[in-house]
Amino acid sequence: MICHDYINEYIRNTIKPSTGILAELEEFAEKNHVPIIQPEVARLLFVLGTIHKPKRILEVGTAIGYSAILMSGFLDGAGKIDTIERYELMVERAKENIRRAGLTDTISIITGDALEVLRCLDKKYDMIFLDGAKGQYGEFLAECERMLEAGGLLVSDNVLYKGMVAANELVVRRKKTIVKRMRDYLDMLCKSDKFETSIIPIGDGVAVSYKKK
Ligand code: SAH
Ligand code: MG
Repeated sequence: MICHDYINEYIRNTIKPSTGILAELEEFAEKNHVPIIQPEVARLLFVLGTIHKPKRILEVGTAIGYSAILMSGFLDGAGKIDTIERYELMVERAKENIRRAGLTDTISIITGDALEVLRCLDKKYDMIFLDGAKGQYGEFLAECERMLEAGGLLVSDNVLYKGMVAANELVVRRKKTIVKRMRDYLDMLCKSDKFETSIIPIGDGVAVSYKKK
């Protein structure tokens, strides 16, 4: 939570509770401390996706498959999601959840380290969601730019990282490097002439970038 509590609370209360497998996964994530996207970010992602209507989505950071399953909700029947995860235990859980959601034909998990996987991928996407390895977003950017169609959307989660990215006095020592890297990432993204970017202070901070045509 990086905004005033009363603002967060007000916004949170406007959000309809999830149902079905998404509700189940939210509960599992809460109990097991899996850092899935926060409800406000889920709403933003869903509205962006509904407007943008992507056919191919790439995600970095699958965890238990929550955001991938959420995003499948704005794909039409032909849409596909590739999602990258390096942690075997998460991959197994995500596979099971995706199977239970009946989405095995829609969501493909790619197991491995995101940077290596991104460098090998030779596909085009109309939407990319970055939600893993905060310290590596800067290295991911060139690959995302290469794979994103003109007119595509790049959504980056956790860019304000508990507010630390915006205020030195909040930075705890062992997070200094990650914070510095995230600032460099935002700097690159916001100065890039390839993207138009807006940083939104909901959840842990989200950057929404449009790849210019
Ligand atoms: N997007 C998910 C949450 C992802 S949490 C959701 O909202 O439902 C971040 C995940 O990224 C973790 O599961 C972590 O294992 C994975 N991750 C972190 N660094 C990574 C890397 N370099 N390559 C692949 N996966 C990574
Ligand atoms: Mg996140």
